[in-house]
Amino acid sequence: MITIARLSSALARATAFAASAVMALTPAATAQQGVSLIRDTEIEAVMREYTEPLLDAAGLNRDSVGLYLVGNNEFNAFVSGGQNIFMHTGTIIISDTPSEIKAVLAHEIGHIEGAHLVRFGDGTRGAMVTMIATLGLGIVAALAGSGAGGAAIIASAPQFATLDVMRYTRTQEAAADQAAMTFLERTGQSARGLITTFERFRYQEVMSEARRYEYFRSHPLSSQRIDAMRRRVEASPYADVEESPEQIAELRRIQAKIIGFTVAPAQVFQRYPESDTSLPGQYARAVAYFRQGRLEQAQQRLAQLIEMEPENPFFHELEGQMLYESGRIEESVAPHRRATELMPDAPLLRVNLAASLIGTNEDDALQEAVSHLRFALAREDENSWAWFQLALAHEALGETAMAQLATAERFFAAGNNMQAFVFASRARDELDRGTPAWVRASELVAVAEPTPQEIRDWNRAERERRSPFTPQADRLFH
Ligand SMILES: [Zn+2]
Repeated sequence: MITIARLSSALARATAFAASAVMALTPAATAQQGVSLIRDTEIEAVMREYTEPLLDAAGLNRDSVGLYLVGNNEFNAFVSGGQNIFMHTGTIIISDTPSEIKAVLAHEIGHIEGAHLVRFGDGTRGAMVTMIATLGLGIVAALAGSGAGGAAIIASAPQFATLDVMRYTRTQEAAADQAAMTFLERTGQSARGLITTFERFRYQEVMSEARRYEYFRSHPLSSQRIDAMRRRVEASPYADVEESPEQIAELRRIQAKIIGFTVAPAQVFQRYPESDTSLPGQYARAVAYFRQGRLEQAQQRLAQLIEMEPENPFFHELEGQMLYESGRIEESVAPHRRATELMPDAPLLRVNLAASLIGTNEDDALQEAVSHLRFALAREDENSWAWFQLALAHEALGETAMAQLATAERFFAAGNNMQAFVFASRARDELDRGTPAWVRASELVAVAEPTPQEIRDWNRAERERRSPFTPQADRLFH
């Protein structure tokens, strides 16, 4: 339910447009508009479950490979920014089985493991990462609509200010296919998903529909390539290994959630009509009703879901999100608290709870919020949304210097050294010398001290920002 954006002033002009595209729920942002990253505890858990055994099989360190969800319902996946896999939500909702998604992941891991030297695409293909939004896109609009939108839309993931779209050679593609099959075999899984995925899109390509699918432009499909894969897939002792009904059900569930949050509600109701009383059906409709502002209908569906699975943290999380975004802040505390009790290690659930607690503006709640945020930030120190919430909590508690330190951390995590330096300096001046907070502020001052070039750039950006001719849209994100 969180919106986090990485927006330095230099990027403001380009990103303002992309952000408005996200808010309007425009599908399929193009490279020029930027890439929006999505955070969601439930979906991330499933993707980790798919990815981690494959990383182990590839002999790669689980922690050294990042996996990011791109909020885009076109089929695509790519490697960028070093060892980072970017998976489109479209790949998840278009795939029939987990094995098809795993095949795509295994192929991308094959590129990483093979350390394939890359040729960069032409200049227009570099995509700019503009925003990290959880699936609750409502809050994006809520924050941007507030006067301080620029302050609330928070920087994150500095290493992905831009993404290089890679171009591989045919040989490298074939090597990645082979590697994918090796990793799937080593994990005792069938690699048929690789074939079914590629064949489906080959058919569409013939029907000239898939031309728009970037993935298949960068991964040209030849019958030769597919035949080579098929021979090896069928020879594998695991060719007939099937996924369990539980694994399929788990995929249907996150597909429903993504569709509920990202597809126009009318289409959601078409795909999941009221006659569909399955759990995914109820899940998708609950979200779609919520997005239409029909909270009562949404809550009815959600109540049924919670009755089916009272211990599912994500249903309680969704209830908390619905209430919070409907302005019923105090009521949102209990479901968010329940979600964290059911899944205490999940950082994002803690941040949700903290945001609700901060909204109540009571001292005890603010103190509790600080402890949840510290817990989350110890696990995700680049989560700028959490740093922003921490600053809010300290500010509300009257702890101005601590709020400034948290703001310095937020800018530092976003790669904005200039602002990190400014806020860390202020915090250091006010904090008691020798305390852990003072030590950290001093560290940030030393580490984030801007270079003369950064100072010149910053001054120029400030002059532009003050210009009466600066378009309004730019100001949102300074
Ligand atoms: Zn490839």
